Parts: sequence; C-alpha cells; structure tokens
Amino acid sequence: MRPRGPWRAIPGFPVTFRYVIHTFGCQMNVHDSDRMAAVLRHAGGVPAAGTGDADVVVFNTCSVREKAEQKLRSEVGRLAPLKRCRPDLVVVVAGCVAQQEGKRLLARIPHVDLVVGPDNVPELPALLLDRMAGAAPTARTEFDTLAPRFLAAPLEPGRAPVVGLVTTMKGCDERCSFCIVPHTRGPERYRPTREIVDEARRMVAEGTREVLLLGQTVDSFRDPALEPPGGDDPDETQFPQLLRALVRQVPALARLRYTSPHPRHATESLARAHMDLDVLARHVHLPVQSGSDRVLRRMIRRYTRAEYVARADRLVRARDGITLSTDIIVGFPGETRADFEETLSLVREVGFVSLFGFKYSPRPHTAALRLHDDVSEEVKSERLARLFEVADVIGSAHLSSLVGTRQQVLVEGASKRDAGSAIRVQGRTDRNEIVHIDAPEAASLIGAIVEVVIARANRHSLVGVPSDVPPARAQPRGQVRRLPVYG
Ligand code: SAM
Repeated sequence: MRPRGPWRAIPGFPVTFRYVIHTFGCQMNVHDSDRMAAVLRHAGGVPAAGTGDADVVVFNTCSVREKAEQKLRSEVGRLAPLKRCRPDLVVVVAGCVAQQEGKRLLARIPHVDLVVGPDNVPELPALLLDRMAGAAPTARTEFDTLAPRFLAAPLEPGRAPVVGLVTTMKGCDERCSFCIVPHTRGPERYRPTREIVDEARRMVAEGTREVLLLGQTVDSFRDPALEPPGGDDPDETQFPQLLRALVRQVPALARLRYTSPHPRHATESLARAHMDLDVLARHVHLPVQSGSDRVLRRMIRRYTRAEYVARADRLVRARDGITLSTDIIVGFPGETRADFEETLSLVREVGFVSLFGFKYSPRPHTAALRLHDDVSEEVKSERLARLFEVADVIGSAHLSSLVGTRQQVLVEGASKRDAGSAIRVQGRTDRNEIVHIDAPEAASLIGAIVEVVIARANRHSLVGVPSDVPPARAQPRGQVRRLPVYG
C-alpha cells in the first residue's frame, strides 16, 4: 500500500512514524489514550502536530451515549478525503465503539484500517506494522479475560502529573439496564494490589501528589492477597483494604481519590476507611441515576432510594465536611413526571454539590432496549434543564458558603481560561472544589498544597488568594445561606 516503505524517517529524529490520538468520552478514555500513546512511543512513534501531519490517526472512542458515537462517526468520516490523497495514512478506531462494532466498522467505514478494542492496545504496534506491510484491514476485539493485562502510566522522570490516574480494575459485572459498558469493557478483572501500589509509589517518587484510582465500579475491588472482606454484608469488598494498603505503603502520598464507586459497595467498611484515612479526599462521586424506586428497579441498580440515602449519609458522617456529587439520567423509559420529581427531591435531600446529568440514550446490547423509549426528546431536555437549575442552586450555595474560609488547595496547573499565562493557576481542595489562585509567581506553586482564603465564588468554581495575602473582595460569611447536607 505505501510506496515509501515503512514509515518515513523524520529528519533529526530516530523515529519511524508520527501519530495523533483523538479522544472521546470520559476520564477513563483520556487515561486509555495516555497508555496508547506510550505503546506507540515505545514502538518508535512521535506525536504529530496534527492530523494533516500524521502517519497514524487513532480515534479513541466512547459509546456510553449515542451522541458520542455519532460524533466519532462524523470525525472519522471527515478523514475520507485525506485518506484518498494519502492511501498510506493508517486510520485506527480504538476504544468502546471499536469493541461494540468490531468488523462491522471496517465494512461500514471503508477508510478505516484497524479496529482495536480496549484490551488489545498492546497489540497495536504489531497490527500497524502488518497493515503497513500490506495486510488486510483488521479488527482485534478480544477481552483478555484469562490473563488480564494492565498497562502502567507512562512516566517521564521529573515530569509526573500532579494528579496521577491509576487503574485498579477493568470491565463491569453490573447489569444496569441502560448501560453498554459490560458489553464494551467485558467482565470485571482486578489489577493486583502490588501493581497498583507500585505504580502509585513510582508516580509519587517522581512528584505526583494525588492519586486518583479508576474503575467502572471501583469499589467492587477484590484481591486474594488482601484480607478477606469482613462482616455479614454481602456487598462488602476489599476496596477499603486497597485504600489502606496504599496509604500505608505510599506514605508520601498527599491525597487519594477514587471514581466511580457503585452505591451497592459503599459499605460500612468504606465509611470506616474515610474515618481513619486523612489522605482520602472528603468528596465522593456516587452515581445514583434516579430518585424513584420504580425507575431504579427498571434500571436494575440493585438499591432503593432509602438504601442509597442511608449509604450516602454514612459516608457523609464519616468525616467532617465530606461532600457528594452524582450522575443522573433523565427520561429513562417509563419515567413519569412524578418519578422525575422524586429525582429532584433526592437531589435536594442529599444536597449533591455537583452532578452530571444525561438524557437517556438507548444503547445496543442493553436490557432497556426492550422497554419503550417513551419520553419525548423535548421532555427529556426540559427535565435536564430543571435538574441543572436545582443542582446549580445547591452548588452555588455550597460554593458561596466557602467565601472567607481558608482552604488547602493542591495546585494542578494554569487556569484553563488563562492557559499559557503564568499568572493564574488552578487547583482543587480536598473536596474537589476548583479554586483559581491569583498570586505573584503563581506558576511556581504548581504541585504545592497552598492555603488560600476564598475571596469569591463563581458559578462552578472559587477564587482564592494565598492566606498570607489579605483577600481583596471577601464577602462576610453571614450573608451566605448554608444548605444542610440533608434536610
Ligand atoms: N459505572 C458507573 C456507574 O454506573 O455507577 C458510571 C459509568 S458511565 C461511563 C457514566 C455515566 O453515564 C453513568 O453514571 C450514567 O449516568 C451515564 N450513562 C450510562 N449509560 C447511559 C445511557 N444509555 N443514556 C444516558 N446516560 C447514560
């Protein structure tokens, strides 16, 4: 196919090809893309400046909602003219859409060369070489169920991220009726604790301050090397033991978070871990999906509203100041106005400080496809807007309540809107509130935990000044309405 032989050599670089990765979807996909980049670099690739400059274009895809999948199709479609001019360009579709569609994608989008599922990323270099040597377009989408492989984060000495993402498991054994993840990511497989601790330890030695543990249901973790789960609760797992092992074995770790736990496993011993481990963030993202028992049953979430509230309450009470955020789906098949009102009442009752809201999107291979998608698009949009209104009131009240307080902020980098400027940086409190910091020499604060006084609350973030500089626009705390976490 390519007349110039395997990839062109780039003058001045001992490399063979240039790649670009386009990522769709959540944090987990961003993390997968980092690992894909590491595999490609190891095989001799260097990042291209853009698609036009690349020999290999990878689309790392998400299929949790139809919108993400449509976006992928249109992005890949736009490459068709480039591929016609440059038949040697290798177009790779990876991630969940790759897993979901497999070979069908090759038939449907003829300029796609390779389809690679989430568990087949280590094979990517070999597949690229074969394709370059003239092999036919290929789809590789086998789960590594018998011998799970976990790729460690690429770490360049001295250039560790302030917040390091560490995979603890892959796949999902839940059978939520709306969710395609068990189909695209396979059954649950857990990474050995030893590997997780080693990766966290290496990151921290290179400068990482916070570790974020990742898993589809991160709290279902099991490892025969750890103490067995205690107590009679069948939902107890060894996730709390993993947290304790990390804190014990990586003493220089400043902060530890995890996402996303399933409420079923938010058990007594997880709350106890929050009580005992100061390093654990005082914030938990605990997806609830709906506040109506009828809808929760049809979603096959395996908890009732009352059970969710009790588990959330136990977590919140474990340590002073713990906050919760959540995921909610509106317009699930059969969701009535009364069901939706129950969701709003749950949001108020729990007092989620933030939430991600989604319109229900029918997905292939899910049980909910057998239910009638009977909530109109218009009603879904209205419900989503109302949900965000309610969430914004609670979120803003929470942020305003922090004005005038002192907060410990882990500075992560330049503020998004000031990217490139060395003046303003942003970071997070241990409760995940985003704080922009105005300070001279702000760039030198990156990676430090800085005490700031909160001067102002924006809609979704805070502005602070280091506590040794008097805040310019602090509002008196008495003016702020504090919402109770429950009530
Ligand atoms: N595993 C986590 C859980 O369910 O507890 C979350 C994983 S999913 C990648 C992130 C969020 O996407 C879910 O919590 C849910 O709110 C949303 N989601 C998943 N499937 C959806 C669908 N078919 N339509 C709309 N939203 C969906």
